[in-house]
Amino acid sequence: MEKKRILTGDRPTGRLHLGHYVGSLKNRVALQDDYECYFLVADLHMLTTQPQKEYIDALRENIYEMVLDYLSLGIDPKKSTIYLQSVIHAVYEMNLFFEMLVTLPRVARLPSIKDMARAANMTDEAIPFGLIGYPVLQSADILMPRAHVVPVGKDNEAHVEVTREIARRFNAYYGDVFPIPELLMGDVPTLVGTDGQAKMSKSLDNAIFLSDDEKTVEKKVRGMYTDPNRVRADIPGTVEGNPVFIYHDAFNPNVDEVEDLKIRYRQGRVGDVEVKDKLARALNVFLDPIRHRRAHFAAQSGYIEQVIYEGTLKTQALAHETLVAMKKAMGFSGVWNRISRKARDRMKRQEKEAQ
Ligand code: ATP
Ligand code: MG
Repeated sequence: MEKKRILTGDRPTGRLHLGHYVGSLKNRVALQDDYECYFLVADLHMLTTQPQKEYIDALRENIYEMVLDYLSLGIDPKKSTIYLQSVIHAVYEMNLFFEMLVTLPRVARLPSIKDMARAANMTDEAIPFGLIGYPVLQSADILMPRAHVVPVGKDNEAHVEVTREIARRFNAYYGDVFPIPELLMGDVPTLVGTDGQAKMSKSLDNAIFLSDDEKTVEKKVRGMYTDPNRVRADIPGTVEGNPVFIYHDAFNPNVDEVEDLKIRYRQGRVGDVEVKDKLARALNVFLDPIRHRRAHFAAQSGYIEQVIYEGTLKTQALAHETLVAMKKAMGFSGVWNRISRKARDRMKRQEKEAQ
């Protein structure tokens, strides 16, 4: 039986962090044996909020670091295909066809678009057309390999819903070409930042990166936001919604230790330093093998580039297949084909007559 397909990806705006991990990457690593996986480096999506040349100039470095993060986490290029979005020209065409199948208010109203604009210090009036089209381009990415499952964080939930609507409409107009993809959310739909803000994000400067060294992790954890009312260790504290405990739950496999800390925290019998030190230790145990693999892959000159190159060539062929199937279903390729055939026939006749 053929494996079902997964598609997801990330914008190459820098290194990956714990939020990316719990929202999406953890599922990718877990599912790569059971699904045919496509992971895109979404450089076109980067342009929706960062079109300036300085960001394009940083792409090479950022793409390298991000794909290095993928491999360090255990994404295996022998099983999963990693590719560069902007090289897959068929996706630009699909994007245009899909733009006709969704209304402007449907995408313009999405809170996620406004959130991204705000994160990029943009007023509503400054939102580019392309940012409104973000979920449509994402639909083209997802439908390109005719994916069944899309592992993403909470902020992408509405976009997958748009994709499902576009796929349904396409199939209704032109015949069944696309499976309706399912969203797969991580166990932590949105990981809070170290500063207590709702989302861990590079742009908010509240992230712990997968590539941070031990000392950096310790320092960031020491500075984490906790229960602000707890000015002394003997004051009972709140565990629920406390970022330090959210991270403990997500990354500390020692459930007994976490339970004990929670009990004592609620009773005012533990200092913040102990809770944080134990978290930093758990995070470093989690990150250590990732760091080792990172160093291992980084030492192999050209390897990351080869992974992206081979993955992208493979994806180009697949995208072309889907585009041909799409246009055939639409009856759209036929028009140009007939025109070209008739024209070529006449040109041949003319050539013969001239001889
Ligand atoms: P950053 O703001 O740090 O640049 P981002 O939101 O721009 O991150 P994307 O490339 O848009 O990152 O998203 C990549 C994937 O990671 C998406 O599936 C997204 O939902 C997920 N993700 C990003 N941040 C978090 C988070 N804090 N918690 C859970 N999932 C997240
Ligand atoms: Mg980003």
